[in-house]
Amino acid sequence: RFITFEGGEGVGKSTQLKRLAAALERRGVEVIVTREPGGSPRAEALRDVLLSGGAKRFGPLAETVLVAAARADHVERTIRPALDRGVWALCDRFIDSTRAYQGVLGGVEPELIRAFETLAAGQTMPDLTLILDAPAAIGLERAKLRAGALATPDRFEAEDGSFHERLRRAFVEIARAEPERCLLIDAGGDADVVERRVWEAVERRLFM
Ligand code: C5P
Repeated sequence: RFITFEGGEGVGKSTQLKRLAAALERRGVEVIVTREPGGSPRAEALRDVLLSGGAKRFGPLAETVLVAAARADHVERTIRPALDRGVWALCDRFIDSTRAYQGVLGGVEPELIRAFETLAAGQTMPDLTLILDAPAAIGLERAKLRAGALATPDRFEAEDGSFHERLRRAFVEIARAEPERCLLIDAGGDADVVERRVWEAVERRLFM
């Protein structure tokens, strides 16, 4: 099984992903935890290139191409081999982040976004996507507080509240458009409460 976590900045994706991995392992399910951009040695190198530019970041189209290159390697070397061995793959961000950041916010045409998705991921599409949703203000504060965040603080300052509100709406729209794959999870409250919601969703969608 292939599960992805999506959402804006600071919504708690990586925390919830680790908790879900632990819960699955307690049930005897073998899992790998991975992320995008990145998830394989060469894709992690591309992640550094993508996120290290600060204000001098690539434009949305160049980002789309680089994220796709990273994804092709990540799918080929990390995700596909795990799934082929019967191991579950849990991934922090995947195609929906590209749709939201480069597509909706960056203005890259949906057809182009889809073409790159197909090119990079092929048939390796998530069985379930959990879209964590929290008010932009909460996410922004959490993201700023987070130690070792890869996105630099100057990026957060450059991107005002409206960027995060638009991002949030983009993810809500994605969840609405593909209800068979995606589930919107209220991530505004306590991490334990969110963890229960995530677990209920996984049980309902993948174990029953
Ligand atoms: O949430 P995470 O820390 O993994 O994301 C790293 C950064 O990469 C985020 O700030 C996000 O804005 C950015 N990103 C992006 N386009 C993507 C995926 C991530 O700009 N397709």
